[in-house]
Amino acid sequence: MPPIQCLSVVVPCFNEAQGLNALFERLESVLVQLPDFNYEIICIDDGSLDDTLEKLCQHAARNRNIVVLELSRNFGKEAALTAGIDAARGDAVIPLDADLQHPPEYIVEMVQQWQKGYDVVLARRVSRDTDHPIQQYITNKFYRLHNRISECFIPRDVGDFRLMDRKVVDALKKLPERRRFMKGLFAWVGFKQTTIDFVVEPRKTGKTAFNPRRLWLLALEGITSFSTVPLAIWAYAGFTVAILSLIYGCWIIVKTLVFGIDVPGYASLLTAILFLGGIQLMGIGVLGEYIGRIYSESKQRPIYIIRQRYGKQNNDV
Ligand code: UDP
Ligand code: MG
Repeated sequence: MPPIQCLSVVVPCFNEAQGLNALFERLESVLVQLPDFNYEIICIDDGSLDDTLEKLCQHAARNRNIVVLELSRNFGKEAALTAGIDAARGDAVIPLDADLQHPPEYIVEMVQQWQKGYDVVLARRVSRDTDHPIQQYITNKFYRLHNRISECFIPRDVGDFRLMDRKVVDALKKLPERRRFMKGLFAWVGFKQTTIDFVVEPRKTGKTAFNPRRLWLLALEGITSFSTVPLAIWAYAGFTVAILSLIYGCWIIVKTLVFGIDVPGYASLLTAILFLGGIQLMGIGVLGEYIGRIYSESKQRPIYIIRQRYGKQNNDV
């Protein structure tokens, strides 16, 4: 008989105290349906301000398969997920949101696909009805742009909810970057993939931590982590402007020779100066985005800091 395998479910939690009882109830009832597997649930308290940590510890005391990692402050979802994935010891790892937007019941289907030999089983949202229409529109545009200019393809409507085989997780752990756009990193490592469809549920309690500003920063992170096109584009823009101004310069010389000196145009001069000034500032801004990232990478600070680990202390699975 093959050795019993273990599934690790990784749950980043930020101010999720109200929803945790419902989460564990549903998640555990799914995991015990899989008798051929052991399981561990790794919950990361990402510097929550409510009593998420106390709740998590209560559950960890009740069920020895639950492990709680308390981060020293709020590091953001990507860092919390990284902490959980680093700590996971299972043969397959499944990141899951704590707000029950990712219905745990789909884990059964994911495991079936994994057993068929796929290394990554992606869960694709069949509808985005729970998002605001403007957010849906911008998200679509973002995926299009990202996939057009980046070195790795991010499948649309696929988030962090997925199953990854141990070899995928080990590959992921080798990526050294500090600033982590997990969706991109997941896609970058590749491996044999398949997709299942799932219906995303509305958030059960609490509210989303991703306001428009955070979403914008995440999108910026995604583009700058996987593409240098925004940098290169300025060379082409500069070249085009140079050619156009050369043609315009020639035209002015010819005009002066033929018609004599004209009164120079104040309006066109000012427009050209302001326009080019704006273009240059944009170019410098894009450079700044990349240099800022080089700066933060070069500092080599850890991605997250664990304040304490609760629950099962021995590391056997
Ligand atoms: N989350 C986190 N740290 C943060 C923000 C969010 O660990 O700084 C967790 C949150 O508890 C949830 C998951 O990331 O389990 C997804 O967050 P949320 O539901 O707010 O995002 P949305 O579903 O709206 O994209
Ligand atoms: Mg959510």
